Amino acid sequence: MTKNKTIIVSNRLPVKIVEKDGVYELSPSEGGLATGLGSIYKTGDNVWIGWPGLEVPEDRQQEVTEKLAELNLIPVFLSNEEIYQYYEGFSNEVLWPVFHYMTTYANYEQSYWDFYQTVNTKFADAVEAHLHEGDTVWVHDYQLLLLPGLVRARQAHVTIGFFQHIPFPSYEIFRLIPWREELLAGMFGADLLGFHTFDDVRHFLSAASKLSTSKYANNVITYNERQIVVEAFPMGIDDDKFERLADNERVSAHIQSFKESKQGSRMILSIDRLDYSKGIIPRLQAFELFLHLHPQYIEKVELYMIVVPSRDTVPQYKELREQIDQLVGNINAKFRTLNWAPVHYFYRSFPIEFLSALYRTADVCLVTPMRDGMNLVSKEFVASKTDNRGVLILSEMAGASKELNDALIVNPNNIGEIMRNLLQALNMSEQEQEHRMKSMRAIVKKFNIHLWVKNFMDKLNEVKEMQAALL
Ligand code: UDP
Repeated sequence: MTKNKTIIVSNRLPVKIVEKDGVYELSPSEGGLATGLGSIYKTGDNVWIGWPGLEVPEDRQQEVTEKLAELNLIPVFLSNEEIYQYYEGFSNEVLWPVFHYMTTYANYEQSYWDFYQTVNTKFADAVEAHLHEGDTVWVHDYQLLLLPGLVRARQAHVTIGFFQHIPFPSYEIFRLIPWREELLAGMFGADLLGFHTFDDVRHFLSAASKLSTSKYANNVITYNERQIVVEAFPMGIDDDKFERLADNERVSAHIQSFKESKQGSRMILSIDRLDYSKGIIPRLQAFELFLHLHPQYIEKVELYMIVVPSRDTVPQYKELREQIDQLVGNINAKFRTLNWAPVHYFYRSFPIEFLSALYRTADVCLVTPMRDGMNLVSKEFVASKTDNRGVLILSEMAGASKELNDALIVNPNNIGEIMRNLLQALNMSEQEQEHRMKSMRAIVKKFNIHLWVKNFMDKLNEVKEMQAALL
């Protein structure tokens, strides 16, 4: 008899795979989700199913499959056309903009939808090939909204959890999607649906009741005589990792070199992927206004702005990049002096040691997304502040703002408000910084990634018990 196992499914596998001189090399990913779920997929017969991140020719797929199997990973191979239509197309040009309330960016192409269905079915095939009676399936994120329903159709009694890592928009926004009913029906295949915040839960329940025959009471939906629980699980980070980096030699060396180059000026930090949901332009405008209205800060503050390249073949992202280049150029040209520039802009990604040094050095971390499911950068900044110094300015539109109440909370569209909070942050007493940072660190520490995984899995088991009791 085989033991019951857990199958994790996400668009990408938690692995970096590169081809070097005709040989595929794998290195496990160090992302927070991979760390949190490591306790699950690396044990026993458990597995993680997903796309390996590049197109693998058919005659090399066996080789890649065998290498991945050593890490408990199972690949779903996708062609470049499938990636273009299902991932870049439907996921990132329909679901991403709509779920982040940027509806004018949505491109409702029929072929995107066709491929979204085909690829979700490919994932269902992969799950089915490894699924036994009694197993648990945990599906992650917006690329796989149809998967719970597709798996349920093949095995009626399987346990399925689904977690969405991005926001769920209000009904008035969600209803714009031409394939809204089908998407909901796919999600209804799960036994437990998890979101980052209560607002996401509320929005989902409202959309579900208005667009389907389902009924709900409290947070339980009844659909086709099945009970589905919808609940908020705010995702945490691997706080220990960020605390431990304090003792790392490379981190110390970076901190030292920042201190030398700053020559006593204060550091404001901004870190995001290139994305229109991140509010990068208004943030820069707020900084420009700050320098304009408070010229006494010239040569006294520096904005370190990291933008990680992302989706920059998509026209809207390319355009955003050009706007950032231009605005940074203007601000630097307008305010720079012989020995000082206000914005240090990097369009690249950095290793964790460099990020940790930035988090530790920064006096202020400016996180102002227009919408963000959670926002991990804000939590990583807090976890890194082992000396309890520094101020977090956080958008009320980020899921993290529901937990990090001791940040300075701002409306990301209100440039004047961001500017005023920047001034407040730079003038905050050490005592107040310590008070706020301590309480935020306690939250980040307690509700870390491990507790998030445990809470979700415990709830999923509870839901199955509830369903069994009702049979
Ligand atoms: N990050 C990174 N390298 C960088 C800059 C950022 O790995 O050079 C990481 C950062 O540590 C964080 C993640 O990217 O864990 C960004 O997560 P967040 O939730 O803030 O935004 P997302 O990109 O998922 O929308």
